[in-house]
Amino acid sequence: MNKKFDIVVIGSGPGGYVSAIRNAQLGYRTAIVEKYDVLGGTCTNVGCIPSKALLDSTEHYFQAKHKFDQHGITYSELQLNFNQLMTRKNEVVNQNNNGLKYLMDKNNIEIIHGFASFLNNETINVISEGNDPIIVSSDKFIIATGSKPTSIPGVKIDKKRIITSTEALNLATVPKSMVIIGGGVIGVEMASIFNRIDVKVTILEYADNLIPTMDSDLGKTLKRIMTKEGINVKLNKKVQSAENKGDYVQVTYANSKGEIHTIDTDYVLVATGRKPYTQGLGLENTVIQTDTSGRIITNAQLQTTEPAIYAIGDVVSGPMLAHKAEEEGVFVAEIINGQKPHMNYDLIPSVVYTWPEVASVGKTEQELIKANIKFKKSKVPISFLGRARAAAEKDGFVKVLSDPKYGELLGVHLIAPRAADLISTAVVGMEYEVTDIDMTNISYPHPSYAEAMKEAFLSVSGKGTISL
Ligand code: FAD
Ligand code: NAD
Repeated sequence: MNKKFDIVVIGSGPGGYVSAIRNAQLGYRTAIVEKYDVLGGTCTNVGCIPSKALLDSTEHYFQAKHKFDQHGITYSELQLNFNQLMTRKNEVVNQNNNGLKYLMDKNNIEIIHGFASFLNNETINVISEGNDPIIVSSDKFIIATGSKPTSIPGVKIDKKRIITSTEALNLATVPKSMVIIGGGVIGVEMASIFNRIDVKVTILEYADNLIPTMDSDLGKTLKRIMTKEGINVKLNKKVQSAENKGDYVQVTYANSKGEIHTIDTDYVLVATGRKPYTQGLGLENTVIQTDTSGRIITNAQLQTTEPAIYAIGDVVSGPMLAHKAEEEGVFVAEIINGQKPHMNYDLIPSVVYTWPEVASVGKTEQELIKANIKFKKSKVPISFLGRARAAAEKDGFVKVLSDPKYGELLGVHLIAPRAADLISTAVVGMEYEVTDIDMTNISYPHPSYAEAMKEAFLSVSGKGTISL
């Protein structure tokens, strides 16, 4: 069978589905090709959505177990129904899958289920089990094939006991213990989920801090909170091997002095990063080039070395984040349409969904020091807030870095309840280049966690009363 479209998007993750919708809105005959039976990609099926569903459920359990009594709530027996926890998570994912199918149909986007492979620069072959191959040609292609987990030398993911986040989000029973290799974003989110339901969790992180690419104050505070909650956080540890011994895994790591240690554990979760996914895509049949880490090379318009083929999301350079992929999805559609869309890679917020949440935008203090850029800073605790006291939340801070002369915001970093929602204020301010004082000239609701943002802006502009 042969099909022809104006635009064909390969991959239905947040990059692909958002791009398909924007292309269809702009009047193009659009198709989306997805190798799995469901839409949504990593984010919807094995990433953002299921992890947040489990983070929410397990936080309720943890609160009930450890924090309800201070509110005067007691119970005779608290039980965890792990099956129900997973069932709810699956339902949340299904609702999102169905929502995406609805959006594709509503926008007249043809969904083609099957594995896409380029035959040349103008045509792909789509193969699905039990069906004849479909030859699809298109004026333009948008590659949005995302990423897959990667491992480290000495550690082979067997998906049985040496697993990735994908398997961890689908475990059938609660393990007794888990070693997580990597204290980056996936490592700390997964550690939170399993620690809260009484799994003995150890994080082995190579760097000297958790979430080491973010402002170092965030990782330090997060380590303190996670340790207090029972997670064994081991920094400066380089994992060398993990061996599935049948009913347990033996992990070997070196400390900073080069001394070798081992830990026996039920499961090892490998969270050492993800790699772009282009396997089987037939790039060798096109002129498209990839860089040394396998990412598809594009220009500033997200055009590959073949001008009619664009690439977006995790498969190209930049942070591997759903909202970055979404922005790029809209961006390419509007570029193809001859518009001049705006995309600011410097202001893509990062969020880590621990409790409290961690959020960040702009430069870190360490980056400013390294680049020899002068800055002033404020750091205010959330514990002074009436809102925090009412909710019995004690941990967290907001840190603002701004230009000493003009007050331009350079970076905002916070660890606080609902930090994921709070960071948007800073993104707006930074996008429109307002000053730290401008940020104090707006009204913040009382009582709210947002008042910590206001106090940090007041403090950095010299008008504050509270600081760390
Ligand atoms: P993907 O979502 O990976 O989608 C690519 C799609 O392409 C897949 O469905 C795949 O099956 C399909 N595909 C690949 N090759 C082919 C082919 N040849 N033919 C047909 N189809 C193909 N990001 C956030 O911003 N916030 C979060 O809270 C967050 N949490 C995460 C939690 C976890 C555990 C993980 C693993 C990731 C998380 N991420 C989060 C990252 C986020 O999931 C990714 O950045 C995002 O999914 C990238 O979107 P994408 O469209 O580029 O690719
Ligand atoms: P990451 O790059 O965030 O963290 C990997 C960690 O593994 C690093 O801290 C690194 O120092 C450590 N490491 C590497 N080799 C090691 C070794 N031999 N021993 C011990 N530690 C080692 O990668 P990730 O956590 O796997 O996440 C992958 C991607 O998924 C990220 O790019 C992230 O943006 C995305 N993601 C985002 C969210 C979110 O936005 N909330 C959530 C999950 C995943």
